Amino acid sequence: MAAAGRGGSAEVTGISDARKEGASPRSRGEGNDIAIVGAGIVGICAAAYLTEAGYRVSVFDRTGVCEETSSGNASAFAFSDVLPLAHKGMMKNLPRWLADPLGPLAIPPSHLPKLLPWLWRFWRAGSSRHYEASLAAQAGMMKLAEPEWMGLLDRSGTRSMLREDGSLELYESEAEFRASLPGWAARDRFDIPYRHVDGDEISALQPGLSGQFIKGTFVPGWKTSIDPKLLGKAIWAYAEKKGATFLKGEVALVMSARERIAIQLKEGRTVMADRVLIAAGAWSHRLARQLGDHIPLETERGYNTTLPVGAFDVKRQLIFGGHGFVITPLSTGLRIGGAVELGGLKLPPNYARSKAMLEKARRFLPGLKTEGGREWMGYRPSLPDSLPVIGRSRSSANVYYAFGHGHLGKTQAAGTARLIRDLVSGRAPALDISPFSPQRF
Ligand SMILES: Cc1cc2nc3c(=O)[nH]c(=O)nc-3n(C[C@H](O)[C@H](O)[C@H](O)COP(=O)(O)OP(=O)(O)OC[C@H]3O[C@@H](n4cnc5c(N)ncnc54)[C@H](O)[C@@H]3O)c2cc1C
Repeated sequence: MAAAGRGGSAEVTGISDARKEGASPRSRGEGNDIAIVGAGIVGICAAAYLTEAGYRVSVFDRTGVCEETSSGNASAFAFSDVLPLAHKGMMKNLPRWLADPLGPLAIPPSHLPKLLPWLWRFWRAGSSRHYEASLAAQAGMMKLAEPEWMGLLDRSGTRSMLREDGSLELYESEAEFRASLPGWAARDRFDIPYRHVDGDEISALQPGLSGQFIKGTFVPGWKTSIDPKLLGKAIWAYAEKKGATFLKGEVALVMSARERIAIQLKEGRTVMADRVLIAAGAWSHRLARQLGDHIPLETERGYNTTLPVGAFDVKRQLIFGGHGFVITPLSTGLRIGGAVELGGLKLPPNYARSKAMLEKARRFLPGLKTEGGREWMGYRPSLPDSLPVIGRSRSSANVYYAFGHGHLGKTQAAGTARLIRDLVSGRAPALDISPFSPQRF
């Protein structure tokens, strides 16, 4: 241990010293220390995979394990959700959505100037060529993500937290249904099963639903977990049992220091590691910038309300695409929410958005008990082409990135962890990762 660091008096430790005494189950060779910045679902899954492979893993987070965006999401394993967000059909909806301040998409005027470069890239990502490339990459990632999650659930003993009851997407008009058909046809190309339903079949899939939904699409392979936070904590318990350690602290700086990486915490301490994985969700680009990677990460803020258990007997996840929200039955309650607010990391939450979706849910599920709900906002980490960043930093081969999964971070966490493990251990990645390159922008 030596005294040094930017503040002059700051402490520098090797990561082994920083870990709690006795936390490592077995001694491992030099070069095996990996620090992960971020204990969201992506960081936690990476910790599980890397400890399984024999690496000595320490996870840094300023709050706790799975306490931020990964704690309150809609809990879907949306393996069939392969369509990039930027596409022509979506662009047609933009004026209507933006006209409603509490609708599916909002841009707070104060954030607009900062957002313009991202919006420009988003618009370009909707061109046929870019869209097709993102679609193929996303579908490839999903084909990997599903078996990786199922394997991780089994290995960690958490399979019982999985719900395999499919999803039901609902449409209020023939026009809305017809507008969804190209998206379903695109899924045909990747052999994703689904079935369009109407009338009695809708009522059987979800009794008590308002009659205003004339058509639906049932996706049998859609899965959810009983609660995203509980699942995240359970995966972490598995990683911890395998030897991963949690260190609470905000990482202020990540930089190369000879053959190793220095991680400076806000409190002043500096920790050295052989390798670093940045999995800090919507805040990751700030650390990547320090390493010379300028990644256009924005946040799509999303909102929900979780009602107490018993608010309504919802049989499976219900998706109201035209209204930009979903209803998910969890073991901890009924979660109603979604929406996109391109509002950055600093503006205060606008919970009128949660309330607006709850009010719609009350109309869609007559009899829904709307009392006693808990409101929440989370920060989806989003790239303009709807693909995550998975790969190495430009300046240091020992720094890896895994962030930017947007609406799909839970769904793709285990697949991402597999790819990171492949990269770290020098194996050929399980799929072509060039579409996820940090240097693609
Ligand atoms: C309303 C809503 C619904 C959603 N529904 C779904 C869904 O159904 N299915 C799905 O797959 N995805 C869903 N998502 C998206 C999903 O929640 C995210 O993609 C995912 O949680 C991102 O995980 P992460 O680990 O990358 O980031 P996070 O969960 O945000 O974790 C990042 C962690 O990094 C920490 N951190 C950041 N900076 C630092 C620093 N400098 N030092 C130390 N720690 C730091 C933070 O404290 C945080 O704990 C939804 C999102 C929202 C908002």
